[in-house]
Amino acid sequence: MRTTCPYCGVGCGISAEAEGRALSVAGDPAHPANLGRLCSKGSALGATVGLEGRLLHPTIGDRPATWAEATGLVARRLREAIARHGPDSVAFYVSGQLLTEDYYAANKLMKGFIGSANIDTNSRLCMASAVVAHKLAFGADLVPGCYEDLDLADLVVLSGHNAAWTHPVLFRRLEAARARGQRHVVIDPRRTDTAEAADLHLPIAPQTDVRLWNGLLADLIRRGAIDLAFLSAHVGGFAETEAELARADQSPAAVAADCGVPLADLERFFRWFAATPRTVSLFSMGANQSAQGVAKGLAILNVHLATGRIGKPGACPFSITGQPNAMGGRETGGMATTLAAHMDFEEAARARVRRFWGAPTIAERPGLRAVEMFEAVREGRIKALWIMATNPAVSLPDAGRVREALAACPFVVVSDVMAATDTSAFAHVRLPALAWGEKDGTVTNSERRISRQRPLLPPPGEARADWRIVADVATAMGFGEAFGWRTPAQVFREWARLTAYDNPDRVLNLGPLAALTPEAYDALEPVQWPVTAAGGAPRLFTDGRFQTPDGRGRMHPVAAEGPAEPVDPGYPLALNTGRVRDHWHTLTRTGLAPELCRHAPEPYVEIHPADAAPLGIAEGALTRIVTRQGEAVATARLSDRQRPGSVFLPMHWTQAFAPAGRANPLVAARTDPRSGQPEFKHTPARVRPYRET
Ligand code: SF4
Repeated sequence: MRTTCPYCGVGCGISAEAEGRALSVAGDPAHPANLGRLCSKGSALGATVGLEGRLLHPTIGDRPATWAEATGLVARRLREAIARHGPDSVAFYVSGQLLTEDYYAANKLMKGFIGSANIDTNSRLCMASAVVAHKLAFGADLVPGCYEDLDLADLVVLSGHNAAWTHPVLFRRLEAARARGQRHVVIDPRRTDTAEAADLHLPIAPQTDVRLWNGLLADLIRRGAIDLAFLSAHVGGFAETEAELARADQSPAAVAADCGVPLADLERFFRWFAATPRTVSLFSMGANQSAQGVAKGLAILNVHLATGRIGKPGACPFSITGQPNAMGGRETGGMATTLAAHMDFEEAARARVRRFWGAPTIAERPGLRAVEMFEAVREGRIKALWIMATNPAVSLPDAGRVREALAACPFVVVSDVMAATDTSAFAHVRLPALAWGEKDGTVTNSERRISRQRPLLPPPGEARADWRIVADVATAMGFGEAFGWRTPAQVFREWARLTAYDNPDRVLNLGPLAALTPEAYDALEPVQWPVTAAGGAPRLFTDGRFQTPDGRGRMHPVAAEGPAEPVDPGYPLALNTGRVRDHWHTLTRTGLAPELCRHAPEPYVEIHPADAAPLGIAEGALTRIVTRQGEAVATARLSDRQRPGSVFLPMHWTQAFAPAGRANPLVAARTDPRSGQPEFKHTPARVRPYRET
């Protein structure tokens, strides 16, 4: 059976065989994303599908309940909150682990039938800044390139992207291309495994990305290395962007000094970029997770628009997503900031979607984004919260405050695979969901490729598909007619019809997939949207036409700013949080595989020896990491891979695995004002030996 990996946004195809609940997995050689490769996490999936710790029956409080009781109670509490306090008093917090069919159902219920846009996804934490940058520059949230561009490029720039750990199969693809002569430049404050292997590493000072990319654009203009014909025919905003550049000293010496990198290395990067038309610029969490995340994305897109390096083989800016179906959420409207199918909240779009859904109402304006949503819960403005397939008590910034919010919320529903997560401890109702290997539906990876997740194992206990749980609650609320699907194929077809409804020119258009027979849905081969009768589209903007009203791409002036909260004498180090190679999010799955726990078996903090020495911190010493939000304990790893003045703390640890090592209670809940994405990469911190208070 062929299916798709449930971890990162690479979206690797898997060939799997089940015997009872035992599962053997291998890379699918026919899947274009991975061509048979798998990383350590994908290879270990067979160790994660046991039933130990699974939530197998609905519960109300601590007692088992029937599905009818549980969904009836959820429906009643939602209806009561809406009747007493209005539709904005309820909220759904969903996940990039959901399938597209699940996302579609949840979004339809919230925006069309409850009438609020208070549905947001944990993907807000990983790529919301790129979404806003795409919309501003291209007119819609469109990823222009494809993985084949990584094979075809002569230069690949990785900005805030430790692909070797976070997207390992893409990294292997890049390594293969490098063996054929491709060059790699890594822009990252840390000397990660990706940086270690690169031709050039620019270890920039934290939050100086915009300064660097603006400096590159200024250098390209000075050299005459921009594409004047492409600009003139297809792009606006160049003059305004150039004027913004003139407000700062853009000499390489000044840029190198501000970014804290050697001048010779910066100049080499600028020369390589200017001389290499086939350039792909990958950017990921290191760019997005910033109070300046949108500006960082725009600075990268500006360079590609100015050089015409977009829509061509081996040339594009490329935002890489973290989760297996972050893209599906962006498409269906699983974000509080879009309505559905890349439509916003203008009157015409609202009328169109309402008509399509046959909905009694429709959300009027964007809803609460993740951090705002939990703050509204804490302040008592949200009376009923439904969390699907995610663990915000661990993963949101200032997680201690999130726990306070959950504890104070009058009604919390958690639908999840596992019985006991840090978040489900606060649930009034728990609803058992199907896990990977049991679920049936579709996901979209970073290159817009839709792939099937297919069921390999029988549904355990009373677990149900997430889309069906949503439909059951919707039916109990009195909306059964609009949620009467019997199969995921029916949900998918409705979703696909919406993409072209009343506007066939939308780029996000699934075209003929709206008419898939059940058999064709089962057999669906991976395909990149937009889909036409001729098939999928590997690249967008090949004719230089963008999705803006005038069809022109748009450069945006962006100014380099520092972090939202700079370090100070009390908190002199910049705390950076992120992933380790073999773990995924809050360990609910990878924590079950012993082979995945060996790589990083306990919480650690990486610190430069020059910072550790004056503090009396030795290799392996227990260490306190303290911020204004909280404190963690971890063993010290002294490494000159870490930039002096900053420390790195993995984000995965939970109450169950290592309560003192949890990272996100330390992170300030500061966000990019335009994207709502938290600044996970920079919180002022101090570090002390454990024995000192
Ligand atoms: Fe799964 Fe990502 Fe690894 Fe591929 S690279 S096997 S999608 S975790």
